[in-house]
Amino acid sequence: MDNKQLWDSVLGEVQITISRANFSTWFKNTRIIKLEGGIVYIGIPNEFVKEWLFSKYDKFILKTLRDISESVRGVEYVIVTPEMKEKADTTPPSRNQQPYTQELPLSDLYINKDDNLNPRYTFDNLVIGSFNELAYAASQAVVKHPGNTYNPLFIHGGTGLGKTHITQAIGNSIKAEKTGKKVYYITSEKFAMDYINSVQNKGINEFKEKYRKYDVLIMDDIQFLSGKEKTQEELFHVFNVLYENNKQIIFSSDRHPNHIPGLEDRLKSRFGAGMIVDISTPEYESRMAIIQRKIQSNNFSLSAESIAFIAESLECSIRELEGIVNSIICQARLKNRDLAQNEIKLLIKNNIVPKKTASIKDVIRIVSDFYHIEESSIYEKTRRKEIVKPRQIAMYLLREDFSVSYPTIGEKFGGRDHTTVIHSCDKIKDSIKKDEVLVEELLQIRALL
Ligand code: ADP
Ligand code: MG
Repeated sequence: MDNKQLWDSVLGEVQITISRANFSTWFKNTRIIKLEGGIVYIGIPNEFVKEWLFSKYDKFILKTLRDISESVRGVEYVIVTPEMKEKADTTPPSRNQQPYTQELPLSDLYINKDDNLNPRYTFDNLVIGSFNELAYAASQAVVKHPGNTYNPLFIHGGTGLGKTHITQAIGNSIKAEKTGKKVYYITSEKFAMDYINSVQNKGINEFKEKYRKYDVLIMDDIQFLSGKEKTQEELFHVFNVLYENNKQIIFSSDRHPNHIPGLEDRLKSRFGAGMIVDISTPEYESRMAIIQRKIQSNNFSLSAESIAFIAESLECSIRELEGIVNSIICQARLKNRDLAQNEIKLLIKNNIVPKKTASIKDVIRIVSDFYHIEESSIYEKTRRKEIVKPRQIAMYLLREDFSVSYPTIGEKFGGRDHTTVIHSCDKIKDSIKKDEVLVEELLQIRALL
């Protein structure tokens, strides 16, 4: 394996553990320069990246290198471009000045060993907006009456939108009430591993007992059980025992249970028997609130214009938002001053690949044009067939392709209730199965978006 292959493997490992924004901030333009006497010399673009890699990723990089190549003993960082940043600054300390050695926590790693809960996930630091309010409301109901109201509770949504945060917040809240209820959080991957280990070590009874004694079981990222039949079977039994004893079960997944391939039907129907809610991408106001919250919790400040600017530019997951905010804070602290708008602009440009560009209005306009109806009529409360269909299609596309939340769609369509929106989307989903003309129309509309 040459140096390039070695470094590519390390980058591959890093990439799956940190956000894209963080990845491109810290690992772009890095490479292995040489490997000598067991020391890997990593070329990096500037002092800033050097400090950061050294303080945050050094152990991880070394460990990953060692996992791949046993001969590696250490890592050295070498700046390979001539423009080393001058850090001398005579301006008086600004509010945002802080030595960058006590950096922003990338993740608080304190995790309770008994229940696997990370205390940093609370409802207090969870921003609520139309993108997650249904999930929030259901979670609150579960906290109030675990095992009784929504059981199981199933939360789905794309990565980085807060599933782990909200499900762990439920656990932490129930724990905080000190009712003595035993809470346990586990990812489905760990559950599968635990199961396999127990089979191999003949500890299956121990395994069964362990999972049956919890009052609240939270299983994160259930999509990983796809195709793992034996583990699913075991989960099914655990589920039944807990359920019959009115114990609360909470699942999360990156998609609706019906869309998880290789998931047993009987599990799907169990999930469907409780409450299924989704979290979608935060809309503009929520993005503002999230950025504001992250800035505050880092004892930092940023002008209202800058916050609005970031929120406008980035229609992305919360994890990605966090990444960019962290980058901004770091740069500002390093430079000992606030960043100008164009510096922020540049940072965003370099870090995030813009995703969907069409706005809600664009979608509505394109759909109206396609069906030759007045754009304004789509908002009206009419049941005329020629209007109802385009309206339902616009709602469906906003939900499916742009992850706009049901309540937001309802609001945009003249203050309709989210249940109406859900009904409309279901209607289209249903029709797709039998209506070939509709399928063709959707293809054409999507090509226009
Ligand atoms: P998921 O499990 O859906 O991939 P996470 O729960 O890990 O997403 O969330 C990603 C990051 O965003 C975490 O740092 C989390 O604390 C933060 N986060 C998620 N949702 C919110 C929210 N509503 N308000 C504030 N921070 C949030
Ligand atoms: Mg998660």
